[in-house]
Formats: sequence, structure tokens, C-alpha cells
Amino acid sequence: MSKNLIAGNWKMNGSIDSAISFFQKLIDHTQNANSEILVCLPHVLLHTGLELTANTRIQIGAQDCSKFSGYGAYTGEISANMLKELGCHYAVIGHSERREYFGETNEVVAEKIAKLNDADITPIVCVGESLEHRKSEQHFDVISSQVDSILASVDSNKDFVIAYEPIWAIGTGETATPEEANSMHQFIHDMIGRKFSIDYANTKRVLYGGSMNAQNAKDLLAQEFIAGGLIGGASLKHEDFSLIANI
Ligand code: PEP
Repeated sequence: MSKNLIAGNWKMNGSIDSAISFFQKLIDHTQNANSEILVCLPHVLLHTGLELTANTRIQIGAQDCSKFSGYGAYTGEISANMLKELGCHYAVIGHSERREYFGETNEVVAEKIAKLNDADITPIVCVGESLEHRKSEQHFDVISSQVDSILASVDSNKDFVIAYEPIWAIGTGETATPEEANSMHQFIHDMIGRKFSIDYANTKRVLYGGSMNAQNAKDLLAQEFIAGGLIGGASLKHEDFSLIANI
């Protein structure tokens, strides 16, 4: 199994100055970390982040990409090809905030997966259920339909990452218990196994996201099927993020 992937998601936060000080400290404090470390920045900070982390072990990713490929008349859009040209190796897509505020459906997510595959950028595709769905015990059904759609669109010759992020745990300070999270991760792992093979599923990382922080990360990352974290709030503080990356 590959290393844990510890991925920060800065969302619509950060400035050039805060990025300079964050990356200098992160680089210093993660020299001996065992995890693969990634920070997904707002598009306007990608160039700065890539320059600051050149020749280090820190990777930089985007938080979204256009469903259109290449170049063209799509005002305001950034294509997967443009991200590749900049030097990004990963992009988050299908985050619940994009699904909720920007109408990103499973179909749109599928189109973006295809564009990222073509550009050789690894998609980190988010799935997650609402509190209502969990309370009414529909959470496995919701995740099953989201993951089905992802597995129908990925290129099995290329890498992809799934991030399980229960919506009720994002930015709320509430996390799934390690056991709750692990059972959903196992469910996703088994779906990948049924679609492709168990050996193949063993090569795919499923990250947990939802109020992961320096206090709870160790227990979550110790679970068999949790292969890393997608971290929002705690990725803005270099002390917390480096602590998680060093687990
Ligand atoms: C996220 O944005 O993907 C996330 C998990 O946020 P937070 O860690 O703040 O809950």
C-alpha cells in the first residue's frame, strides 16, 4: 500500500504573504514525514505555491477545474490542461461545497474526472452524505450512488483518490468516529474491488475529511481503510498540518 496522502484544502483562504510564511515552516517541519504531502490552493496562489515548494517534497494541487478541456471561450474557467502546464499533479473535485453552492452534479464531476485523466492530473473526488441522510440511515445508499458514478468515469490505468467527507463533519468540529469512518471506507474499498479487483482496490487511497485536526488525526489514520486525510481548517495552520503530516 502506498503512503498516506495528507492533503490540505485552503478553500477561499490565504494570501501571498501567508503562503510564504506557511510553506517555509511546513517545509522545515516535514523533512522526515512519512506521508505524501499536498496542499490544494486557490487558483490565484498556485503559481506562488509551486515556486515556494519547488524541489521540496510538498506537492501543490488545485481545488477544482473546468469541465471543458484545453483552451477556449469559457470566461472565468481554468482547464485541467492549464493546471498541468502550471505543474499541478492533483485537483480536488466534487467537494460538497461545490456540489451545494455551484450545482456540481455527479454528471459534472464525471466530466471533470475525464478532463483530469486526459491531462494526467490525479483527481481527488469527494463524496459525502448529509446529516439527514445519516440520521435516516441512507448514508450507504448516498455514497454508493456517488461512488458508482465515479467508478464509471475513472480511467483504471490512471490513479484516482476518493475522499469520504461526511457533510455534517465539514468545518463543524464534529468528526465521524474512527470506526464510523472506517466502515464507510471499507464500503468504498469493496465497491472499487467489485468493479475492478481487490488487488486494484488495495492500490487506491480513500481519504477521510471532516474536521480532521492535530488531536483526532492519529486515531483516524490508524484505521485499516483510511489512507490519508483531506483537511480544511487545520491545513491553514502550519503547526497543525505538519503534526498531521508527521503521524
Ligand atoms: C474540507 O474542506 O474538505 C474539510 C474537510 O474541511 P474541515 O477540515 O475544515 O472540516
